[in-house]
Amino acid sequence: MNHDDLPTWSAKAAAWAQDYHNTLRDRPVRPTVTPGSIREALPATAPEQPEPIEQIFADFEALVPGAMTHWQHPRFFAYFPSNASPASMLAEQLANAISAQCMLWQTSPAATEIEERMIQWLRAAMGLPEGITGTIHDSATTATLSAVLTMRERALDWAGLSEGLSGQPRLRIYASDQTHSSIDKAVRLAGIGQDNLVKIPTRDDLSMDPDALAAAIKADRAAGHVPAGVVFCIGGTSVGACDRIEECLPVVEAEDLYTHVDAAWAGSAMICPELQPLWAGAERCDSIVFNPHKWLGVQFDCSVQFLRDPAPQIRTLGLRPDYLETLEGSDITDFNEWTVPLGRRFRALKLWFVLRAYGLEGLRDRLRNHVAWVGELAEAIRAIPELEIVTEPRLALFSFSHREGDAATEALIQKINADGRVYLTQTRHKGRFVIRMTAGSFDCTREDVMMVNTVLNELLPTKR
Ligand SMILES: *Cc1c(COP(=O)(O)O)cnc(C)c1O
Repeated sequence: MNHDDLPTWSAKAAAWAQDYHNTLRDRPVRPTVTPGSIREALPATAPEQPEPIEQIFADFEALVPGAMTHWQHPRFFAYFPSNASPASMLAEQLANAISAQCMLWQTSPAATEIEERMIQWLRAAMGLPEGITGTIHDSATTATLSAVLTMRERALDWAGLSEGLSGQPRLRIYASDQTHSSIDKAVRLAGIGQDNLVKIPTRDDLSMDPDALAAAIKADRAAGHVPAGVVFCIGGTSVGACDRIEECLPVVEAEDLYTHVDAAWAGSAMICPELQPLWAGAERCDSIVFNPHKWLGVQFDCSVQFLRDPAPQIRTLGLRPDYLETLEGSDITDFNEWTVPLGRRFRALKLWFVLRAYGLEGLRDRLRNHVAWVGELAEAIRAIPELEIVTEPRLALFSFSHREGDAATEALIQKINADGRVYLTQTRHKGRFVIRMTAGSFDCTREDVMMVNTVLNELLPTKR
């Protein structure tokens, strides 16, 4: 295949994508595949000779779509959504054509400057004050790792970077018991150690207890440890827990700790002004991450990190070897100094396309609908005698279970997913096995969301 063949095959791929999208509702959300079957269908070694693209494309059609979980399915209610709006897909196609490595301004001037502008667009749309800047990472995990590394180095006065961690005091990071495992991963990878991630208990509303936070910091200081930072949770993955950041900030600010907000999923909803009180106080935090690749229609991967002052993170992550020196120009940003990997994809292009093609109002309409329909579904489920809402809707996420206990709930989710019309996943809340329900697909409708109610009513034994 050469470049002259690309338009034909690209057009075929686009037509395939359209047909795929149009037939998604008719497919089960999750495939029935036996583990190992796809691997076995592929030859054990790579071809020595070129193969025709016709054959490769045909094999793709035969093997892949039927063995994938359809994340773009409008009735995908599992985990969190991973949306790909058509405008985003188009932007990725263009970014692929250019295939720039966007590590420096001079390797990618437009990518760098569109990235700067997109951060500003989002900052304003999300109600954050002027002066906040930021960058784009592959994932929230990487953004959180960057923030935790910055916490570490700031607390060590940047000695860890040169001397390593042995001989340094014991650092302590605080987060609620509702935070995502990416925080655990970050403290592990940062060499701080899992034992030094202090999980602060949450109150009845699942927010971090500020008194418990203050007490933990005090005890750590008394023990000679060094408190380094706090990670707040806005929209926890399990059941959507939100810290009340403003209530915790007085103690955090008095202790001069670095703060990071993990709003990976819920952050997208902050483009709706009426929802912004949910993260009140985030504007005073040092770092915030959210994933447009979850709920904003921008396809994976695209994770935005806002920074109140980028200098500490640049000091932590940035290196400038001779071969990366920029010889001309001032007033330029070299984003590789803000991120863990040196190489960077042109991710800002899809943000630019999506924000323009749908407009903030178009995106808000979708988010508001998801929240409203999920609320409506929760009421319908509340009326089913066998079932019980365990955690109330937070944005577009709630959890429920069978009144007869964990075994009945587990049997129910297996039946739901075997049915195939909708796909939901489970979590544990306060020791209890619960079914999570979240909606956020770009094209899902009220009928798609209410299908969960139809399926439940069909599957549960009581005659209604
Ligand atoms: C999804 C999620 C993450 C991880 O996001 P990645 O981009 O996959 O690393 C972290 N925190 C929360 C709250 C999430 O929902």
